[in-house]
Amino acid sequence: MKTLSIALAGATAISLFVACTENKDSATGASIQPDAEVQKALTPDAVLQDLTKGNEQYATGQVSAPNIAARRAEATKGQFPKAYILSCVDSRVPVEQVFNQGIGDVFVGRVAGNIETDEQLGSMEYAAAVAGIKVIMVLGHESCGAVKGACDAVKLGNLTTLLEQIDPAIASVEGHDGERNSKNKDFVANVVENNVATTLTDIRKRSEVLSNLEKEGKIKIVGGVYSLQTGKVTFLN
Ligand SMILES: [Zn+2]
Repeated sequence: MKTLSIALAGATAISLFVACTENKDSATGASIQPDAEVQKALTPDAVLQDLTKGNEQYATGQVSAPNIAARRAEATKGQFPKAYILSCVDSRVPVEQVFNQGIGDVFVGRVAGNIETDEQLGSMEYAAAVAGIKVIMVLGHESCGAVKGACDAVKLGNLTTLLEQIDPAIASVEGHDGERNSKNKDFVANVVENNVATTLTDIRKRSEVLSNLEKEGKIKIVGGVYSLQTGKVTFLN
Protein backbone atom coordinates (compact mmCIF):
# COMPACT_ATOMS: atom_id res chain seq x y z
CA MET A 1 0.00 0.00 0.00
CA LYS A 2 2.76 2.42 0.93
CA THR A 3 4.66 1.75 -2.29
CA LEU A 4 1.49 2.14 -4.33
CA SER A 5 0.66 5.43 -2.59
CA ILE A 6 4.09 6.89 -3.27
CA ALA A 7 4.17 5.73 -6.89
CA LEU A 8 0.82 7.21 -7.78
CA ALA A 9 0.61 10.26 -5.50
CA GLY A 10 -0.98 13.28 -7.13
CA ALA A 11 -3.75 11.69 -9.12
CA THR A 12 -7.15 12.69 -7.76
CA ALA A 13 -8.62 9.21 -7.88
CA ILE A 14 -5.66 7.77 -6.07
CA SER A 15 -5.76 10.52 -3.46
CA LEU A 16 -9.33 9.49 -2.73
CA PHE A 17 -8.32 5.84 -2.53
CA VAL A 18 -5.47 6.64 -0.15
CA ALA A 19 -7.80 8.77 1.94
CA CYS A 20 -10.22 5.83 2.11
CA THR A 21 -7.65 3.42 3.34
CA GLU A 22 -5.04 5.48 5.16
CA ASN A 23 -6.66 8.83 5.83
CA LYS A 24 -3.52 10.72 4.88
CA ASP A 25 -2.76 13.59 2.58
CA SER A 26 -0.79 12.02 -0.26
CA ALA A 27 1.52 15.03 -0.56
CA THR A 28 2.27 15.88 3.07
CA GLY A 29 1.50 12.65 4.91
CA ALA A 30 -0.62 14.58 7.40
CA SER A 31 -3.86 12.97 8.52
CA ILE A 32 -6.98 14.36 6.85
CA GLN A 33 -10.61 14.20 7.84
CA PRO A 34 -12.84 11.98 5.69
CA ASP A 35 -15.78 13.62 3.92
CA ALA A 36 -19.19 12.13 3.06
CA GLU A 37 -17.95 10.65 -0.21
CA VAL A 38 -14.95 8.99 1.40
CA GLN A 39 -17.08 7.63 4.25
CA LYS A 40 -19.63 6.21 1.82
CA ALA A 41 -16.92 4.39 -0.15
CA LEU A 42 -15.50 2.73 2.95
CA THR A 43 -16.28 -0.92 3.69
CA PRO A 44 -16.15 -2.49 7.16
CA ASP A 45 -13.08 -4.49 6.09
CA ALA A 46 -11.30 -1.34 4.85
CA VAL A 47 -11.96 0.33 8.20
CA LEU A 48 -10.64 -2.70 10.09
CA GLN A 49 -7.54 -2.60 7.91
CA ASP A 50 -7.13 1.11 8.69
CA LEU A 51 -7.48 0.56 12.44
CA THR A 52 -5.06 -2.38 12.32
CA LYS A 53 -2.50 -0.35 10.42
CA GLY A 54 -2.99 2.64 12.73
CA ASN A 55 -2.34 0.42 15.74
CA GLU A 56 0.83 -0.97 14.16
CA GLN A 57 2.02 2.60 13.57
CA TYR A 58 1.23 3.54 17.19
CA ALA A 59 2.94 0.46 18.63
CA THR A 60 6.07 1.07 16.56
CA GLY A 61 6.22 4.84 17.13
CA GLN A 62 5.39 5.73 13.51
CA VAL A 63 2.30 7.86 14.08
CA SER A 64 1.24 10.32 11.39
CA ALA A 65 1.21 14.10 11.77
CA PRO A 66 -1.87 15.03 13.86
CA ASN A 67 -2.68 18.10 11.71
CA ILE A 68 -4.79 19.43 14.59
CA ALA A 69 -5.53 23.01 13.48
CA ALA A 70 -6.52 22.04 9.93
CA ARG A 71 -8.65 19.13 11.06
CA ARG A 72 -10.39 21.16 13.73
CA ALA A 73 -11.35 23.67 11.03
CA GLU A 74 -12.56 20.89 8.69
CA ALA A 75 -14.58 19.35 11.49
CA THR A 76 -16.79 22.43 11.83
CA LYS A 77 -18.42 21.42 8.52
CA GLY A 78 -19.63 18.05 9.85
CA GLN A 79 -18.43 14.61 10.85
CA PHE A 80 -18.01 11.44 8.80
CA PRO A 81 -16.34 9.01 11.20
CA LYS A 82 -15.57 5.40 10.39
CA ALA A 83 -15.80 3.50 13.68
CA TYR A 84 -17.20 3.43 17.20
CA ILE A 85 -14.79 2.17 19.80
CA LEU A 86 -16.24 1.10 23.14
CA SER A 87 -13.38 1.34 25.59
CA CYS A 88 -12.73 1.22 29.32
CA VAL A 89 -12.09 4.59 30.97
CA ASP A 90 -8.53 3.58 31.92
CA SER A 91 -6.13 6.53 31.56
CA ARG A 92 -3.49 4.25 30.07
CA VAL A 93 -5.58 3.51 26.99
CA PRO A 94 -5.56 6.68 24.81
CA VAL A 95 -8.00 5.35 22.24
CA GLU A 96 -7.51 7.74 19.29
CA GLN A 97 -3.74 7.49 19.67
CA VAL A 98 -3.85 3.70 19.97
CA PHE A 99 -5.32 3.53 16.44
CA ASN A 100 -3.48 6.62 15.09
CA GLN A 101 -6.75 8.45 14.41
CA GLY A 102 -7.40 12.18 14.31
CA ILE A 103 -10.24 14.63 14.86
CA GLY A 104 -13.43 13.41 13.19
CA ASP A 105 -12.24 9.83 12.62
CA VAL A 106 -13.85 7.79 15.39
CA PHE A 107 -16.53 7.87 18.06
CA VAL A 108 -15.17 6.79 21.42
CA GLY A 109 -17.57 5.50 24.06
CA ARG A 110 -15.99 4.97 27.45
CA VAL A 111 -17.23 3.25 30.57
CA ALA A 112 -15.32 1.31 33.22
CA GLY A 113 -15.03 -2.29 32.03
CA ASN A 114 -16.13 -1.45 28.43
CA ILE A 115 -19.61 -2.87 28.92
CA GLU A 116 -22.72 -2.19 26.84
CA THR A 117 -24.78 0.07 29.07
CA ASP A 118 -28.11 1.38 27.73
CA GLU A 119 -26.45 4.73 27.01
CA GLN A 120 -23.60 3.09 25.10
CA LEU A 121 -26.06 1.02 23.06
CA GLY A 122 -28.04 4.12 22.13
CA SER A 123 -24.86 5.95 21.19
CA MET A 124 -23.69 3.04 19.03
CA GLU A 125 -27.07 2.90 17.28
CA TYR A 126 -26.79 6.61 16.48
CA ALA A 127 -23.22 6.16 15.23
CA ALA A 128 -24.15 3.22 12.98
CA ALA A 129 -27.66 4.02 11.75
CA VAL A 130 -27.37 7.81 11.51
CA ALA A 131 -23.73 8.86 11.38
CA GLY A 132 -22.56 6.08 9.06
CA ILE A 133 -19.76 4.27 10.91
CA LYS A 134 -18.70 0.87 9.51
CA VAL A 135 -17.14 -0.84 12.52
CA ILE A 136 -18.02 -1.19 16.19
CA MET A 137 -15.09 -2.34 18.28
CA VAL A 138 -15.23 -3.39 21.92
CA LEU A 139 -11.78 -2.74 23.33
CA GLY A 140 -10.73 -4.44 26.56
CA HIS A 141 -7.27 -4.01 28.00
CA GLU A 142 -4.58 -5.72 30.03
CA SER A 143 -4.79 -5.39 33.79
CA CYS A 144 -8.24 -3.74 33.77
CA GLY A 145 -9.09 -2.29 37.19
CA ALA A 146 -12.83 -2.73 36.62
CA VAL A 147 -12.36 -6.41 35.78
CA LYS A 148 -10.09 -6.85 38.79
CA GLY A 149 -12.67 -5.15 41.00
CA ALA A 150 -15.37 -7.46 39.67
CA CYS A 151 -13.14 -10.50 40.26
CA ASP A 152 -12.81 -9.38 43.90
CA ALA A 153 -16.56 -8.59 44.20
CA VAL A 154 -15.78 -5.00 45.22
CA LYS A 155 -18.71 -3.05 46.68
CA LEU A 156 -18.54 0.76 46.39
CA GLY A 157 -21.49 3.07 45.83
CA ASN A 158 -22.71 3.14 42.24
CA LEU A 159 -19.68 1.13 41.13
CA THR A 160 -21.20 -2.01 42.68
CA THR A 161 -23.94 -2.31 40.04
CA LEU A 162 -21.54 -1.54 37.23
CA LEU A 163 -19.06 -4.23 38.30
CA GLU A 164 -21.84 -6.82 38.66
CA GLN A 165 -22.32 -6.58 34.90
CA ILE A 166 -18.90 -8.22 34.51
CA ASP A 167 -19.96 -11.23 36.63
CA PRO A 168 -21.11 -13.36 33.63
CA ALA A 169 -17.63 -13.00 32.10
CA ILE A 170 -16.08 -14.19 35.37
CA ALA A 171 -18.46 -17.16 35.58
CA SER A 172 -17.64 -18.14 31.99
CA VAL A 173 -13.97 -18.77 32.84
CA GLU A 174 -14.00 -22.48 33.55
CA GLY A 175 -11.43 -24.95 34.79
CA HIS A 176 -8.89 -22.29 35.72
CA ASP A 177 -6.04 -23.29 38.01
CA GLY A 178 -5.22 -21.00 40.89
CA GLU A 179 -7.10 -18.22 42.59
CA ARG A 180 -10.14 -16.70 40.93
CA ASN A 181 -9.34 -13.15 42.03
CA SER A 182 -7.30 -10.08 41.00
CA LYS A 183 -4.05 -11.53 42.35
CA ASN A 184 -4.07 -14.11 39.57
CA LYS A 185 -2.87 -12.34 36.40
CA ASP A 186 -3.79 -15.19 34.06
CA PHE A 187 -7.28 -15.39 35.47
CA VAL A 188 -7.76 -11.63 35.09
CA ALA A 189 -6.52 -11.84 31.47
CA ASN A 190 -9.06 -14.59 30.75
CA VAL A 191 -11.87 -12.52 32.27
CA VAL A 192 -10.79 -9.47 30.21
CA GLU A 193 -11.12 -11.54 27.01
CA ASN A 194 -14.39 -13.12 28.07
CA ASN A 195 -15.77 -9.72 29.06
CA VAL A 196 -15.13 -8.45 25.52
CA ALA A 197 -16.77 -11.58 24.06
CA THR A 198 -19.75 -11.30 26.42
CA THR A 199 -20.18 -7.63 25.53
CA LEU A 200 -20.15 -8.44 21.80
CA THR A 201 -22.82 -11.09 22.32
CA ASP A 202 -24.93 -8.74 24.43
CA ILE A 203 -24.69 -5.90 21.90
CA ARG A 204 -26.11 -8.21 19.21
CA LYS A 205 -28.75 -9.56 21.57
CA ARG A 206 -29.87 -6.21 22.98
CA SER A 207 -29.76 -4.08 19.81
CA GLU A 208 -31.91 -5.15 16.89
CA VAL A 209 -30.71 -2.04 15.02
CA LEU A 210 -27.06 -3.07 15.26
CA SER A 211 -27.56 -6.80 14.70
CA ASN A 212 -29.62 -6.07 11.57
CA LEU A 213 -26.96 -3.70 10.20
CA GLU A 214 -24.39 -6.42 10.83
CA LYS A 215 -26.50 -9.08 9.08
CA GLU A 216 -26.90 -6.74 6.09
CA GLY A 217 -23.11 -6.40 5.92
CA LYS A 218 -23.21 -2.66 6.55
CA ILE A 219 -21.17 -2.84 9.76
CA LYS A 220 -18.86 -5.29 11.50
CA ILE A 221 -18.87 -5.74 15.27
CA VAL A 222 -15.48 -6.87 16.55
CA GLY A 223 -13.49 -7.19 19.75
CA GLY A 224 -9.91 -6.54 20.77
CA VAL A 225 -7.64 -6.43 23.79
CA TYR A 226 -5.00 -3.73 24.26
CA SER A 227 -1.62 -4.58 25.74
CA LEU A 228 -0.30 -1.94 28.14
CA GLN A 229 3.18 -3.32 27.59
CA THR A 230 3.42 -3.37 23.79
CA GLY A 231 0.67 -0.94 22.73
CA LYS A 232 -0.68 -3.64 20.41
CA VAL A 233 -4.33 -4.56 20.05
CA THR A 234 -5.01 -8.27 19.62
CA PHE A 235 -8.24 -8.78 17.69
CA LEU A 236 -10.52 -11.49 19.04
CA ASN A 237 -12.38 -13.85 16.73
ZN1 LIG B 1 -10.19 -1.01 32.49
